[in-house]
Amino acid sequence: MTQFCVDAQRAEEIVKGSALVVACAEFGGSGLLKPWNALAFQQSKPFLPVLIEDATIRLGPLVIPEQTACLACLEVRQNSHLREKVHDQRLIEAFLPQGQAFIGAHPAVTSIACKLAAFEILRFSANLFPRRAGKLIEMNLMGSSMIASCVLKAPRCPVCSPLRHASKVNLEKISLNRERWAQVEAMGGRNDAD
Ligand SMILES: [Zn+2]
Repeated sequence: MTQFCVDAQRAEEIVKGSALVVACAEFGGSGLLKPWNALAFQQSKPFLPVLIEDATIRLGPLVIPEQTACLACLEVRQNSHLREKVHDQRLIEAFLPQGQAFIGAHPAVTSIACKLAAFEILRFSANLFPRRAGKLIEMNLMGSSMIASCVLKAPRCPVCSPLRHASKVNLEKISLNRERWAQVEAMGGRNDAD
């Protein structure tokens, strides 16, 4: 379900008038940022998600439409590692916004997240090297660590994959249709199912 913190029409106006769309959530999970990711992609606008979760600041991936992975690609890849816990994890995220009346992170975390985001916006706007397009920057204050890692496009990403427009392959028709196999055999192929 698409859910913005403003009404959908206003969200479209905001994205349309932006050179770079930046969406932030200091508490509430990536579910709050996904609608902005999809809208920015639809309107071919670069997108920078900024998220604080588990005492970790996550910036990115900085999305350049049709060039880099997007936030949904990151989630698809995270889900592949979560295995059977995918549903539980995403359900927790869906309820997180209800707790936004409380501060979810130490003030130092939000302060550093703002400054990091400002620097990445400057880096993008001034085209500074090294570029961070398609990269996820993670900073953990508790662990005193900061890393940047490349996010690969997910082949079946629901937002940015070219395959989202492709119709599903009908395996039954392709692999089990006897007439089709007769044509393949006539061309020198062989039906191992027989
Ligand atoms: Zn994607």
